[in-house]
Amino acid sequence: MSETVKRPEEAHHIGQLAVRELNSMSIPPFPPYYEVWFSHLGKNNKNLSTEIEHELGVRKRVNEAFLKSIHGRYFRSNTPSSDIEHFATQLLSETNALKDLTQRFGLSATEFRQDLDDAAQQAQANDDPETTARRLLASLVETAHKAITRNAELERNLHDAAEKINTLQSSIEAIAIDANTDFLTQLRNRRFFDAAIKEFAAQAHSENAPLSLIISDIDHFKAFNDTWGHQIGDQVIKLVASVLKDNVKGQDLVARYGGEEFAVVLPNTALHNAMTLADKIRIAVSNRRLVNKNTNTDLGRITMSFGVAEFANAGSIEALIQDADDALYAAKNAGRDCVVSA
Ligand code: GH3
Ligand code: MG
Ligand code: MG
Repeated sequence: MSETVKRPEEAHHIGQLAVRELNSMSIPPFPPYYEVWFSHLGKNNKNLSTEIEHELGVRKRVNEAFLKSIHGRYFRSNTPSSDIEHFATQLLSETNALKDLTQRFGLSATEFRQDLDDAAQQAQANDDPETTARRLLASLVETAHKAITRNAELERNLHDAAEKINTLQSSIEAIAIDANTDFLTQLRNRRFFDAAIKEFAAQAHSENAPLSLIISDIDHFKAFNDTWGHQIGDQVIKLVASVLKDNVKGQDLVARYGGEEFAVVLPNTALHNAMTLADKIRIAVSNRRLVNKNTNTDLGRITMSFGVAEFANAGSIEALIQDADDALYAAKNAGRDCVVSA
């Protein structure tokens, strides 16, 4: 091995450059490679430099196999010392771990390179280039350790942040559900209905599919409340809600449209089928015997009136709702407990 003793500043500068250049070619700072590059930059061996320059001329970069071969031919097999070997093994495993972490967290390679540069800066120059190399490697190991700690912390922070985001998302979802749900019946509320009907209409329009709407209202409910009290009235509203839900399927939407009024949106359903369903619901409601569970008092029965309309006939969402409302009004006028179509 030919080696000229360098001035400390020079050795330090070359060491720094070697780390940077090896790193830029994605060569791990393994001592033999470092030793080769250090020797090349330090112009210690003309033949070695000629071989490297030739390789760089051909491939623009060198790889580990090439450096290994150069090292085997130009350097004593007992170098580097076992000390450096030890550092190197440690460094290699740390840099690999670091590489995994940086990949996982998307940290840029530039950041790592900066760390290596900083480490090179910190390494104390010595009149013995090998000692400089050893110190530099030790410093790199330390830097790798620090970077790993920092990444572990980042990982923890990311994990905490992800948990907070999850919690936040659940609360937002809960709030969104609350905002669209009727508290008493747990049916979708008017607000949800108003938004959903637009989507149903758009879908019906684009698929050229039928869409029907039923609006229903409990008959003489004021009288029912007056007789049995508002709280029992509330229980009846809940009962009606469950009868409605039990009679729809799939995409059908049941919403509490107002106090004792309910809307049922039926995609892919033509007017006559919607009327059949409305009548089925009408019968199911009127067949329910109402009993006050606390006192076992018979509360009689309630009936509902239904107005049904189809989107294709109405032409717009507003007209669809108006048609169903008008039909409901007509059902009331026709004596209640019946279904009328627009
Ligand atoms: P009609 O057959 O013409 O619909 O007669 P009605 O008495 O049902 O109609 P009206 O619109 O005059 O009264 C509706 C009543 O529904 C008024 C109110 O007492 C009752 N109501 C509305 N919302 C609620 C509610 O959330 N709980 C209870 N218990 N009653 C309600
Ligand atoms: Mg009403
Ligand atoms: Mg009513």
